[in-house]
Amino acid sequence: MKKEILIKNARVVDPSQKLDKICDVCVSGGVFAGRVSESAEVVDASGLVLAPGFVDMHVHLREPGQTSKESVETGTAAAAAGGFTTIVAMPNTIPAADSAASIRLINDIISETAKVRVLQSACITEGRSGVKLAPFGTLRKLGVVAVTDDGSCVQSAELMRNAMQYADMFGLLVMDHCQENTLTASGQMHEGEWSARLGLGGWPAAAEDIIVARDAILAYYTKSRIHLQHISSALSVGIIRSAKKRGIRISAEATPHHLTLTDESLKDYDTNFKMCPPLRSAGDVNALVEGLADGTIDVIATDHAPHSETDKDREFDCAPFGITGLETAFSVCHEALVRSGKMPLSRLVEAMSTKPAQILGIGAGTLAEGANADFVLIDENAEYVYNTTLSRSKNSPWFGKKLRAKVVATYLGGEKIY
Ligand SMILES: [Zn+2]
Repeated sequence: MKKEILIKNARVVDPSQKLDKICDVCVSGGVFAGRVSESAEVVDASGLVLAPGFVDMHVHLREPGQTSKESVETGTAAAAAGGFTTIVAMPNTIPAADSAASIRLINDIISETAKVRVLQSACITEGRSGVKLAPFGTLRKLGVVAVTDDGSCVQSAELMRNAMQYADMFGLLVMDHCQENTLTASGQMHEGEWSARLGLGGWPAAAEDIIVARDAILAYYTKSRIHLQHISSALSVGIIRSAKKRGIRISAEATPHHLTLTDESLKDYDTNFKMCPPLRSAGDVNALVEGLADGTIDVIATDHAPHSETDKDREFDCAPFGITGLETAFSVCHEALVRSGKMPLSRLVEAMSTKPAQILGIGAGTLAEGANADFVLIDENAEYVYNTTLSRSKNSPWFGKKLRAKVVATYLGGEKIY
């Protein structure tokens, strides 16, 4: 039988129950409980925050196919270190997760090596080629929670419309990487003053805005649901805000890097600032933060995208897009959003835990009695240098940097995993 734990004196933050106060939390048999017996293990969490385990809707684990960059084992170890107890794996593996056979293979790897709960997403189209829909019904039966062609965007409005209607029939969430391809063909970074100064190909915000608007219109037209991945532009935030006002079933995520960094970071051509979509202007960052504070942007997702040093250590044009993010997400967001006074800690916890769980329709992101005892202990005053990682890659702009506020322990089903 799983042990009983009594966590005492923590500041307990649980947006699902509108709770933010110092109180005891009990765990029994792997779930949160109303009380425990006198023989329970006591953990004194004085000075720490206790929150539901984080849920990341957007993680690249690279397995199968690119295990020199990451694996399910190493990626989920990094997730646990960052306080994530549930993550959604992206389907752009090799082979792509677009068929029963590939999902079965991935499910086997997950059940053998994952250190946190891993939910699988599958492709919208076969091979992410944007031509033919994947077999959603079969994929759903194998436990797939969402579909996305992440890394690519379905360009055909007709195919996207069919995907949204078809997915809705099976209760699958459609998540879109919003990118209009003709506008980004030579794009290396955000199109603006800095791309002109640095002589790098521009990637205009319009490429995202057009697809965000298209998807909002299709969701309105078909009455189905859409989740927009890694939103980066101010106009996109505005479009999503007005879509929500109209009652369109739309949700959106932003990454820690888009919420905190601008295109100016690229001035030294450091490829660890090269992402897709690209880092944008200060105005875009401000709009994203405002959107996150008022709930227009529902969720923070990392888009953890590991790449090896040899991949990233190339001429800017040839280096791949993306950075790792699982281990640093909380520290980076806490500093820029909570310590700065832009939003309360409860909103950050909600965006990293309660909201993504609700959008995915899973019973996580809560400390409610009977829920899996997935939780984190956080030291808001910790200071540390981020110079070791459990990920197989260290392509992070924060590597070697001093950070504050840290997840100090992660529990999964009542077991301490970090
Ligand atoms: Zn993407």
